[in-house]
Amino acid sequence: MRILVSGASIAGPVLAYWLARHGFDVTVVERAPALRRTGGHAVDLFRPAMDITERMGVLPQVEARATGTTRMTLHREGSRKPIHVDLAKLFQATSDRHVEVMRDDLSEIYYDAGRDDVEYLFGESITALSPDGEVTFEHAPARRFDIVVGADGLHSNVRRLVFGDEAGMTTFIGAYLAVLSLPDTLGLDSEAVTHLGPGRTVSLYSARHLPDARAVFLFRRDEPLDYHHRDVPRQQQLLRAAFAGLHPQVDGWLAKLDGPGPFYFDSITQLRLDTWSRGRVTLVGDAGYCPGPAVGGSTSLAVLGAYVLAGELAAANGDHERAFAAYEREMGELVRRSRAFAVGAARSLIPSSRAGVWALAHGGRLISALPAGATRAIAKLNTAGVRMHDSMRVKDYAVTATA
Ligand SMILES: Cc1cc2nc3c(=O)[nH]c(=O)nc-3n(C[C@H](O)[C@H](O)[C@H](O)COP(=O)(O)OP(=O)(O)OC[C@H]3O[C@@H](n4cnc5c(N)ncnc54)[C@H](O)[C@@H]3O)c2cc1C
Repeated sequence: MRILVSGASIAGPVLAYWLARHGFDVTVVERAPALRRTGGHAVDLFRPAMDITERMGVLPQVEARATGTTRMTLHREGSRKPIHVDLAKLFQATSDRHVEVMRDDLSEIYYDAGRDDVEYLFGESITALSPDGEVTFEHAPARRFDIVVGADGLHSNVRRLVFGDEAGMTTFIGAYLAVLSLPDTLGLDSEAVTHLGPGRTVSLYSARHLPDARAVFLFRRDEPLDYHHRDVPRQQQLLRAAFAGLHPQVDGWLAKLDGPGPFYFDSITQLRLDTWSRGRVTLVGDAGYCPGPAVGGSTSLAVLGAYVLAGELAAANGDHERAFAAYEREMGELVRRSRAFAVGAARSLIPSSRAGVWALAHGGRLISALPAGATRAIAKLNTAGVRMHDSMRVKDYAVTATA
């Protein structure tokens, strides 16, 4: 049985790995000319994604490339006195099993795990899909597949071809995200430097194995901004305007915007589809159920979704109708909870008022001061909130073939 996957970031390579393990014949097309190493920011893997990564045999590689950020110096707009936050304690409170890793490192590790058993075509994109499985490409000759999966992100090409334009499916949740790569002039060993003001926050951090530092900017807007998702100069202009006057150090980071380093900008947008399968096509990860980049645990959800989809296809012996229904049943409730979690996280991570800034900063200080056991005990009471990801269970699927 031949399965085509569009997208090779996180969901695509994890799905391809597990499909190959279950004995399917897998091809992945990725629009970028090579695996994208465009300096995304750190992503969180929570317990379910850690368990799946361990089953893939690559957990040591992921842990070796963890960012290792354990402390944060937090500067509030208009206050001279920084607050020191114990991030290690904060992470321990949110998850029993968690690692923070750069998106591009994680993508490479998952890709390497399955590449020998999967056909990868880079610089390629699907142009049309017919209901009987005939697929045409930008460059390669047309081919027939039994199943097609869109793992091509929030602005998914497969979703557009099958479900239509994304307008009406996405809900802007009031914030923007940008990531910039900068020289690590502060020597940020295990430490993040954050500036926080009403409606905007930016953190600079690095990782021991990285030559650069990454600045991640989050800012609020009540209404969506006017720009195209490929218009980088316009996005940079909007970012400068949003952070003007926050702090001279931030002005210095923004001055590097014109440099050659990678830049990422997106709205924090939620995808709200009630079903993400049609005919022999389905979606996985951000393409099907992005809860919102940077705020909803979208990477962990993408890893879990990819693993479940492959497992259900194997359990149904490739019967896509049965498998897609089971996949949506397994993921539906988790997707709904992740959406609710993301809306709350966006609100608390980017407080809109001075009082909210004060509460966030002092909450961080309080957690740093409490014994780790106490913060964990308080957090464990909250399985719908900070502990939501840890409460997701990972089903066992029998692996019929070996990689
Ligand atoms: C370059 C990059 C940087 C990112 N940086 C951040 C970040 O800083 N913070 C954050 O929270 N999230 C970021 N993300 C999103 C984050 O990776 C996802 O939210 C999450 O990991 C789920 O992954 P995914 O595989 O479902 O989707 P994505 O990671 O978005 O991957 C989608 C993949 O599909 C590919 N693709 C797109 N269109 C086509 C097409 N027509 N044909 C073939 N392939 C296509 C893309 O090139 C990409 O490799 C970034 C994603 C990318 C691609």
